Amino acid sequence: MKSPQGTSDDSDLVKARIRAIRAAHPGNLMARHFDADYFASLDAPKRDRLLRIIGSGVENPDSQMGAYARDAEDYDEFAALLDPMIRDYHGIAEGEDIAQQHDWSGASSRCDLAAIDPALSGVSMRVRVGRNLGGFPLPGAMTQAQRLEFEALVAEAFAVLREDPQFGGHYLSLTPGLPHTIGEAEYQRRVAAHQMFKDMSGDKYLRAAGISADWPYGRGMYVSGAEDFLVWVGEEDQLRIMAMARGGDVARLFARLRDGLERLGGLLPPFAHSPRYGYITSCPTNLGTAMRASLHLPLPGLTAGGADLGAVKKAASGLRLTVRGAAGEHSGAGQGGLVDISPRARLRITETGIMRCLYEGAAALWSLEQEGDAAPAP
Ligand code: ADP
Ligand code: MG
Repeated sequence: MKSPQGTSDDSDLVKARIRAIRAAHPGNLMARHFDADYFASLDAPKRDRLLRIIGSGVENPDSQMGAYARDAEDYDEFAALLDPMIRDYHGIAEGEDIAQQHDWSGASSRCDLAAIDPALSGVSMRVRVGRNLGGFPLPGAMTQAQRLEFEALVAEAFAVLREDPQFGGHYLSLTPGLPHTIGEAEYQRRVAAHQMFKDMSGDKYLRAAGISADWPYGRGMYVSGAEDFLVWVGEEDQLRIMAMARGGDVARLFARLRDGLERLGGLLPPFAHSPRYGYITSCPTNLGTAMRASLHLPLPGLTAGGADLGAVKKAASGLRLTVRGAAGEHSGAGQGGLVDISPRARLRITETGIMRCLYEGAAALWSLEQEGDAAPAP
């Protein structure tokens, strides 16, 4: 679907294509919930907009969600399609109230992995949230000029943050020709250090959604002096704001993100937020808290030395956790069976709920790993 212009010929083709996807890829939630009558009821401009929202899921039948919002308003304007998809993915029954709540109180509690096992007091921890500003389209619909305008706007906030005793640091841009643009070697070093995002044009889902367009214009990262507070500019969401640290004190990590969010948020126009869906994100999977909190856990026993993530994925799903490879989504385990575990839920769970789920899940996986160690060799 190279040019979803919304003409009736295109529409018929798309409808047939979606029927075929539904049959061959029952996991594609866009295809599962697409209703041809609803689509036909829209006027031509709205049909065109909807075709763009679902473009990635049509072009990539193996998509799990199959849609990316292009504007914060899309979630309300196209709720007839998007709401059932969101409920399906997040396990919320039709008619059940969503009303996302936020609660960061866990950040002021005690939650330290060292209480599970002192051996876990040096793991790599990361917690990020996605945020978007109401005044710009979401990344899939931004023009190159808007990407640059957005970067200039947040760069002003970073200029203030740079002088902050707690969050001082510097901004690194990928946009060619800016005073703080970094070169390829520095970029690759930051990617390898798990700080900077990968070249998004390698991701077929983001490419089809237009999210990686104009790469690398308008892309960059703010990093604090201690390299524990980072802000991505121009990835899947306009902003991905995160705290990262090696250690075991998960509550402290959350507190660092909470404080940084408050500080940066005060320097920017308000983040797009919906009373129903919480923080607005490009991908409906991230709505709600827009938070992914992860640990890099060494699980050599459960992963057969990193060769097979099957068993750990199975155990993790019962604990409401997702498993990724150590280099992020779609990657394999790292050395020593290092895997990325994170609570799956983002919506209708609070920030504190995510923190607790991560801690309890890590404790359970760690005890499974130890049992494996204790078992006699076959
Ligand atoms: P997200 O979509 O949440 O931003 P990705 O899976 O795309 O996460 O990963 C982004 C980067 O963050 C990757 O380099 C990944 O290795 C890194 N990362 C994720 N969790 C951790 C962690 N706990 N410790 C260190 N690096 C991490
Ligand atoms: Mg990602």
